[in-house]
Amino acid sequence: MTARPTRTLGDVVQARIDAHAETPHTGPCPRCGADIITARTPDRVAAVDVRADPTPLDPAAEILARLAGRLTWCLTRGEHTADRIRWRGTEHIATGRCTHTVIADHRCPPQPIQETLL
Ligand SMILES: [Zn+2]
Ligand SMILES: [Zn+2]
Repeated sequence: MTARPTRTLGDVVQARIDAHAETPHTGPCPRCGADIITARTPDRVAAVDVRADPTPLDPAAEILARLAGRLTWCLTRGEHTADRIRWRGTEHIATGRCTHTVIADHRCPPQPIQETLL
């Protein structure tokens, strides 16, 4: 996290980079090699870089994921808008009207002991 100066030409360029960063990409996790979705949330105040498992969760699986301390996210797909990963707050869940695909933070499986000791 670095503080940005007031709006400059650099900010305009940054906005384009942000738009790219906000588009979910699928690729291998740099640590464990599992397929994960990476994207930055389109939140101007506190954008979060998300690394999530691509497997959609049903409500029961989401509860288990949250109990395990993983954050869950909405994967939004609009007909006329690009895919985005959005913060999934408890209020949003409580509306019961969310039809988004639900995904959870990626957690690497436990590493072999040799690597943990290094
Ligand atoms: Zn949603
Ligand atoms: Zn991983």
